Order: sequence, then C-alpha cells, then structure tokens
Amino acid sequence: MAHTRTIVVVEDEDAIRRGVVDMLTMAGYQTFEAADGEAGLAEAQRAGVSLVLLDLLLPKMNGFEVLEELRRTRQSLPVIILTARGSEDDRIRGLRSGADDYVMKPFSARELLARVEAVLRRSPERAEPVLRISVGSTVVDCARREICGKDNERIALSEMEADILQRLASMSGRCVSREELLSSVWGIRDGAVETRAIDMHITRLRQKLRSHSSEDVDWIVTVRGKGYMLGSQLEITTEGGGDDQA
Ligand code: CA
Repeated sequence: MAHTRTIVVVEDEDAIRRGVVDMLTMAGYQTFEAADGEAGLAEAQRAGVSLVLLDLLLPKMNGFEVLEELRRTRQSLPVIILTARGSEDDRIRGLRSGADDYVMKPFSARELLARVEAVLRRSPERAEPVLRISVGSTVVDCARREICGKDNERIALSEMEADILQRLASMSGRCVSREELLSSVWGIRDGAVETRAIDMHITRLRQKLRSHSSEDVDWIVTVRGKGYMLGSQLEITTEGGGDDQA
C-alpha cells in the first residue's frame, strides 16, 4: 500500500470506540477518534482523512446532522454509519443522506474491516497522489509544482495552485464544490465568505495554464451552481502509474 489511510471513529460508547480504534490500528490504519458529534465533525474535516465511521445516536450533534454537514463540505468523503440492529429506518435514512454503507452493532472485527476495505476500494478519495497532469506536450508536474509548457519553458506554480490542481485531478472526472476546495486546500470549514476567493484563484490559475499550454484546451471547467472539475482532455498520472490495484 502506497500510504497509510486515516479513519475517523465517531462513537460515544467508550468500549466500542476503543475496540474499533484498536482493530483499525492493528489492520494498519491511522485513526482519529471522537466521542460526540461536534468533535467528530471537526475530526472528519481534517485534511487527509479517508473514511469516517459514524455512530448515529451521539451527544451534541447526532450522526445524521454530522452526515448532512459533511455532505455539504466533503461530498465524496466515504462514511459508514454504525447502527443498532433492527433499526431499519435509521439505515435507510442514513443511506439516503449520503452514507456509503452501514454496519450493524454488534459487529465483528472481520465484518467491519471488510466493509471499510470495500468502501475505500470504490472511493474516489482513495486515489493515489497525482504526479502529473498533461495534455499534448504540456505537463504540470505536481511534485515540483511547475508547468513544463510550450518551448520547454518552466513556470512555477504556487503551493495553492498545485493543491487545487491535485485536488481536482484526484477526483478524476467528478465535480468538486467550492466548499470542498476550501476545506481540502485551505483547511477552512465555514466558507460562506470565502468562496469568492476560490473563484479568483481559479481564474488566475486558468489564465496561467492557458497562456503556457501548447494546446488550446479547458484545464478547469466550471460546473454551474456546483463547482469545478478538471477538463476531460487532460491525462492524469498517479503514483501507482494510474493502476487501480492498491
Ligand atoms: Ca451512541
């Protein structure tokens, strides 16, 4: 495996939370834990989190509220809800609210790990780090943060510009909302005021890419009312060489 995945465990029952954290640690995952909804949401919104295990009945903010807020800011972050056996309404409501899967309590280590692995396997966020984005002879080298453009000239990208491009590229063909860019690139959670700043950065980045490209393509496409995505003509190379097998 190329890098360690981080899982947030939100569960107010100490014994269950500790059991799950131990199990995940033994399986090689890094974990953050929270015993109430508010703390869980904050942990889940940290950069680098790959998946959230979310109990529903929680102090301060219940699991549904946490899920709703996460879907606003981190659309594609995988969430598995932990439900009580028999509460079918909760499961359905959870899945409708955007949970990726559910596990019923009490669960075995094997069952939980199998669900976690299955959800991570189909998650767009599990993608390998993006190394290069290219079109024709123009290459964006994400690690070196530079554009290798027409006539072989090299143009530096700021850390933020490289982060935006990497974020869009790692979502391969999916739209990323401004809120999601704010939380993943800027680490800002409440972005009502800040989304204009993103538009400005995107505009400047677009101009930079366009003026140094050998090809006339859309690098960053605006999806009206939703956010941004990477242009479809671009080729993305990841650490694993684009191969999906982890
Ligand atoms: Ca609970």
